[in-house]
Amino acid sequence: MIFTHIEQAAADPILGLNDAFKADTRKTKVNLGVGVYKDDAGQTPILNVVKRAEAKLLEIEKSKNYLGIEGVQQFNHAVQTLLFGDNAEVIAQKRAVTVQAPGGTGALRIGSEFILRHTQSRTIWVSNPTWANHQNIFTTVGLEVKTYGYYNEGTHGLDFDAFLADLQHANAGDLVLLHGCCHNPTGIDLDDEQWQIIADLCLEKELIPFFDFAYQGFGRGIEDDAQGLRIVAAKVPELIVANSFSKNFGLYNERIGALTLVAENSDVAACSYSQIKRVIRANYSNPPAHGALIVSTILSDAELNLQWQQELAEMRIRIAQMRELFVETLMAEGVKQDFSFIKQQMGMFSFSGLNIEQVQQLREQFAIYIVGSGRISVAGMTTSNIPVICKAIAQVQ
Ligand code: PMP
Repeated sequence: MIFTHIEQAAADPILGLNDAFKADTRKTKVNLGVGVYKDDAGQTPILNVVKRAEAKLLEIEKSKNYLGIEGVQQFNHAVQTLLFGDNAEVIAQKRAVTVQAPGGTGALRIGSEFILRHTQSRTIWVSNPTWANHQNIFTTVGLEVKTYGYYNEGTHGLDFDAFLADLQHANAGDLVLLHGCCHNPTGIDLDDEQWQIIADLCLEKELIPFFDFAYQGFGRGIEDDAQGLRIVAAKVPELIVANSFSKNFGLYNERIGALTLVAENSDVAACSYSQIKRVIRANYSNPPAHGALIVSTILSDAELNLQWQQELAEMRIRIAQMRELFVETLMAEGVKQDFSFIKQQMGMFSFSGLNIEQVQQLREQFAIYIVGSGRISVAGMTTSNIPVICKAIAQVQ
């Protein structure tokens, strides 16, 4: 027997919480765990523009033949424009190559496996804290994960000094995982000046920025959210971007994202591209088509593109409103702890400062599900569940 000794794996910290939520029979339960956008009715709807693109595809699609290893080429071009902007130099110089990937996770996986197989780099620095799956993905591939300081518990803000100090210990060729915007889990992003400093540091110490860009459009807007990436790309000759369309197109279960590599020149980029395709071939041969066709249909049509931007803005604005309402309602409930910092955070998440005992009490006594770190998915808040959540928080103070 070869399977007898296999032990039960620990539940995934975020998806496991989801399972526990589903099994909870209490009617008032609230899920603020997994990062999925909900509207004010608590639903995760399909964007109207996605429905329109799908209707169009249903009419024009003639074949389900395999895609190339790199995926839908029109999609890959559209990704580069979203990331780097119209008329970006890296695109004109053909220094950027993009392949379609199964979600942001797939892009992170393919990118890190490419690094391991085709470069001497073995270490990746991630922020402390970071998305729980980063460590998982990188160590599974065989990279060593080190952490740089990011969060200041006292101020609930960025610890930029620790960030810079820790990266002083990085060696040439080390990768630095950077959240493009809407840092998960803290919601704390760098400003333009800090991005410049990080770009200079990477240049000086020959570190390779590895952007995880899962929330473009959820922070300040599509273009503004790409500012950090563009600042770094203007200075640093080599970088990687794993981006996702799960959130900004609401295409969670279509598994659609992309991996983009920027090299010093177009020849190096082309060689890297050929090797990335070999990594994909060995993993899943070639990607699924539907999600990429939806995204490229929308991005290549002026009217659909505009509608997408409007629907994305609605999601972004709703989350910002929930942040305001959450902070106001907590104050109205007489909660003493200062939560005003939540209004400054960006994107779906808030690092609430609630401790593990409070998180457990919220779950056991009030059926409110929050990740153990105190990370709250603000995107799961609605005008009707905020009073329930705030009353409960007031009681676990
Ligand atoms: N990176 C970060 C920071 C994320 O939060 C997520 C999604 N939770 C991903 C990557 C993965 O996105 P996808 O679902 O497209 O694989």
